[in-house]
Amino acid sequence: MGWIDPTASCSACSRKQSPASTEEEKCKTARATIAELSCLNQNEKYNLEKENAPVVFIVSTTGDGEPPDNALQFVKRIKKKTLPNDHYKHLCYALLALGDTNYANFCNCGKTIERHLQELGAKQFYATGYADDGVGLEVVVDPWLEGLWKAIKAALSKMASDRTAPSKGDAGESPKETPDSYTPDVLLNLLSLGDHQNCESIKASVNTDSKYASAASSSASTTQTAVSDLRPASPAGSLGLASQSRGTASISTSAPETQTQDAGFPHLTLAGSLTCSLPPLSESSLNVPALPPPYLDVSLQDVGTMKQIVGQFNKETVHEVPIDRALQLTSGDSVKTALLLELDISAYPTMAYQPGDSFDVFCPNKATEVDGMLHRLGLQDQRNYHVHVSLKKDNKKKGAQVPSYIPQNISLLYLLTWCLEIRSVPKKAFLRALVEHTGDSVQRRRLQELCSKQGGADYNQYVRDPSLSVLELLTAFPSCQPPLSLLIEHLPKLQPRPYSAASSRLKHPGKLHFVFNVVEFPACSGRPAGRRGLCTGWLFDLINPGLVFPGKAECSGSLTLPKIHVSLRPNCSFRPPSDPLVPFIMVGPGTGVAPFIGFLQQRENERQENPEAVFGETWLFFGCRHRDRDYLFREELEGFVCSGTLSHLKVCFSRDDQEQEEGKEVAPSVSRPRYVQHNLLLNSQYVTEILLKQNGYLYVCGDAKNMAKDVNDTLIEMIKTELQVDQLEAMKTLAGLREQKRYLQDIWG
Ligand code: FAD
Repeated sequence: MGWIDPTASCSACSRKQSPASTEEEKCKTARATIAELSCLNQNEKYNLEKENAPVVFIVSTTGDGEPPDNALQFVKRIKKKTLPNDHYKHLCYALLALGDTNYANFCNCGKTIERHLQELGAKQFYATGYADDGVGLEVVVDPWLEGLWKAIKAALSKMASDRTAPSKGDAGESPKETPDSYTPDVLLNLLSLGDHQNCESIKASVNTDSKYASAASSSASTTQTAVSDLRPASPAGSLGLASQSRGTASISTSAPETQTQDAGFPHLTLAGSLTCSLPPLSESSLNVPALPPPYLDVSLQDVGTMKQIVGQFNKETVHEVPIDRALQLTSGDSVKTALLLELDISAYPTMAYQPGDSFDVFCPNKATEVDGMLHRLGLQDQRNYHVHVSLKKDNKKKGAQVPSYIPQNISLLYLLTWCLEIRSVPKKAFLRALVEHTGDSVQRRRLQELCSKQGGADYNQYVRDPSLSVLELLTAFPSCQPPLSLLIEHLPKLQPRPYSAASSRLKHPGKLHFVFNVVEFPACSGRPAGRRGLCTGWLFDLINPGLVFPGKAECSGSLTLPKIHVSLRPNCSFRPPSDPLVPFIMVGPGTGVAPFIGFLQQRENERQENPEAVFGETWLFFGCRHRDRDYLFREELEGFVCSGTLSHLKVCFSRDDQEQEEGKEVAPSVSRPRYVQHNLLLNSQYVTEILLKQNGYLYVCGDAKNMAKDVNDTLIEMIKTELQVDQLEAMKTLAGLREQKRYLQDIWG
């Protein structure tokens, strides 16, 4: 299963007048309309059946274009065939769909919800936005949000006038709200939607039509398009954002080139870098996001020696298992290093996995980075102190909660080692918050640029694309001294990493195999030396002394390997067909071959146990760079062919040809297949026959960024040719296969 971004999908109904209270009287005088924000699974908080204010849906997608967990029930509800087609006739909606074009079913959940809303009579008041994480969500999200406020305003006006107009037959549906609730003065602050108490922040964005409103003056309430106009910092750095956010919105000063040089922060370079921008950005006014309100209090307490615990895992689902064997599958001169680990799961019958399942590996943050973070926060001497996290009494964040993944009674060291993803790429809201804790004006300006609308390209180039970590960023901006609470507010949970099972229990009872490439992040601006992926680097270090290399015999007295924590992640659809007669095709280049080794081991065992039985054809399309360096499981795959378990093995090598051509780039062609999709095309007749005429299955596993998309496009081409239909029809046919769960993906990016 692939995933895009497991964020909650939410709906926001913009309607309610803010409740009156002393502080909010000011808002009331401005006749505030604010937004209610609910997650789609909180159906006790909203009622679309009766909703008479504009509703905004923000929907992400997970897995194979599926709705995220917290949208599942909602999608199921609106799909019910028993609903009349005027069920949502009263509903006025806008929708922002979040997706990633690296995956085949772009924005699928958003599209599904929209289709059903429309089929049920809902009216769109603003064109749907389809934001693509493949190129940066903000490319669509920012302009979409800018237009949204005006659209809401217009929709509210229209709804109010519709209500005051003489009724034309819908007499039974009179709204419960008083007309006052529909006053078209929209007060919205994107980062605190529905924050009833946050009068200050609401006030700061009165009548703005942009989310980039944090530094707008509170006196800007009469301005129609107040945006924060942050110009380069003054030479003295005296007018920082903090003062601007309380004062005027527009500050004009000279560019950073005129500044005095700060130690450790070179800014007089010709080329742009993480810490230094070039014109026009360096001279541009900036629109920065609203400042997210701080909401956590963190205190550290010396409670004597705290017992150092490893991970606090759920004992029922997470098991500590020994690594039995570690093999390097690639040769030393391969670009990537692929490793196979064998785990001994015999002590845990609940880990009874099926081919196609994956499992989570729980890894800690790297000790040197935790140490670096402690030093950076100036908390190295308090590493063993007890951390107490609580909500700020006067916090302005709606629905604020102490993160559930921070257990009680933990030390600071534990928090940074096991709870927070300290490697995570800082989001723009985090950068915006860091500005407030940055002393140096040049550095502050650069952080403002990186989180600004104008600095989007720089953010992508220097932060997002190279996956810059928070620690790397803090090292590059030495005058930034965030409090620990800010890190806890902005760093996500340290997530376990999933891996596909690369074995069958029938062939390896009590064992579980998995295969992975050691991820390498090259050096970049802000990262002087390359580093490895968190989990794959950790596993590599763990097993390195006992690693067995290709061609070298395993010595019996090899080192004992450590234990790791894992839990099973069953995948109910990515399974071999239940009917053994049904033919199936597997597409798995590189480590994407992993689950298919499990499929084939299981099939081999079934064949051995039922020598008389008839089995459907099996095809495997595998690809790698070089036959001699990274052809994973070569012997085992050739063995499957010899035994008849695998009917067709189609392998291609993307770089072997190239070398023969002495470095000349050779255009990929169907006659000389370089990638799996070229081989699929060469075998188009058989593939389409299996899929379209024999009710067969096609499985794709591995790289989501390029391969899965290329395979998808190729399948569409093949269907077009085979069925003599146009693109749309071919896409529909493929979507049909997907719905029937005969075209299945298990992909990761
Ligand atoms: P991280 O430190 O988490 O870094 C990886 C992230 O950095 C990725 O988002 C990637 O896009 C990005 N990245 C990688 N290289 C660069 C670079 N050079 N520059 C910038 N960004 C970069 N992986 C396997 O190898 N084998 C499997 O069988 C397997 N099965 C999976 C099954 C599922 C259901 C899922 C969801 C994922 C699977 N993965 C598999 C992926 C795996 O879970 C990890 O994501 C992967 O091993 C990297 O983990 P890491 O902690 O080492 O890297």
